[in-house]
Amino acid sequence: MKEIILAKYGEIILKGGNRPKFEKMLMDNIKSVLKNVAKCRVELRQATVYIDGFEEDKIELIADRLALVFGIVSITRAAVCEKDIESIKKTAAEYLSEDLSKPCTFKVEGKRSDKSFPLNSVQLSIELGGYLDDCFPNITCDVHDPDITVRCEIREFGAYVYNNDKKIKGQGGMPIGTGSKATLLLSGGIDSPVAGHMIAKRGVTIDAVNFFSFPYTSERAKEKVIELAKILARYTSKIRLFIVPFTDIQLEIRDKCPEEHMTLIMRRFMMRISERIARKSGSKALITGESVGQVASQTLSALDVTNAVTDMPILQPLIGMDKIEVIDRAVKIGTYDTSILPYEDCCTVFTPKHPTINPRRESVERTESVLDVEGLIADALRGVEVIEVYPD
Ligand code: ATP
Ligand code: MG
Repeated sequence: MKEIILAKYGEIILKGGNRPKFEKMLMDNIKSVLKNVAKCRVELRQATVYIDGFEEDKIELIADRLALVFGIVSITRAAVCEKDIESIKKTAAEYLSEDLSKPCTFKVEGKRSDKSFPLNSVQLSIELGGYLDDCFPNITCDVHDPDITVRCEIREFGAYVYNNDKKIKGQGGMPIGTGSKATLLLSGGIDSPVAGHMIAKRGVTIDAVNFFSFPYTSERAKEKVIELAKILARYTSKIRLFIVPFTDIQLEIRDKCPEEHMTLIMRRFMMRISERIARKSGSKALITGESVGQVASQTLSALDVTNAVTDMPILQPLIGMDKIEVIDRAVKIGTYDTSILPYEDCCTVFTPKHPTINPRRESVERTESVLDVEGLIADALRGVEVIEVYPD
């Protein structure tokens, strides 16, 4: 039986006059995601993307990939019918036979937008509902709260039938590319990949920056960050990853600044360097994975000290979330298992025993003033390695 995939979009509907622009971006993203998966036809009609013309055995793979595309709220497999009530009945009975063989309640929602079809939507629902009721002895019609809703769409360009309760949930959000670009400070931890995913979901293209402390952190720690970028790239199609050598800066801070300010001063350098990279590559904001009170460097006073060094907007989507909520999201988006691999991050290597909990800007500025801030930044920027990361 010939099947097709219907992908519905969500928030784009609210875009008024800009809607065609958002739709085009979504279509481009879908085509680019499916390019290496299967040969197929992708067409947009009435807020639904129709995908067909693929080889039968590719359907699951296509549906799985669409489930990662921002902007799509649901993905449904449907059987293609001839536009004739008798063949619609037969196709529906055959296509849904497994679902309707078990005892359950059901209803049929017919939708006729092709006015040349002889039955209107209500007549179509009654006719098909009656037929399925006769075919399957274990099912009962319940139009208010059915277990299964059978949908039948008669469009100008084709007729389709499907079990609406079998639809796969999409990512939601907005198509990548509709919301400028931001630069994610990507560590090897649990939080920052989740933060990046949340902002990308709003249509924002993502670049990533990682601070790397070779030889204090190993090649494997770097591989882990590349792997995390790869997982994020499943959603964004590509990530440009900047790896910044951070060891010299950390050693300078360790040698010349008080231990209790070490983390904060390190974090200030990360923000400054990320801002430089971001501005040069056209990003409009930085993204970090902090949440209030999670560790000493994430108290409000500490965030004040860290963020004071840049006037670029800093997006912190996890700021009000509990760790357990972040972990749930990390599991869902597929980064968790990689994030918990034990390779050390550049910050864990240089963590002070007693960090300041309630730092003040002036006192950190004073202790930091012994460093050649601009010189250290320039050296680090000279050593940046850029990697274009694509999904597997
Ligand atoms: P994460 O789980 O994302 O590492 P965290 O709870 O461990 O976060 P911190 O180590 O305080 O928090 O870092 C706060 C944020 O600073 C991170 O979420 C990340 O955005 C950024 N960051 C920390 N270390 C690095 C690094 N080595 N490279 C790039 N960004 C980093
Ligand atoms: Mg961390």
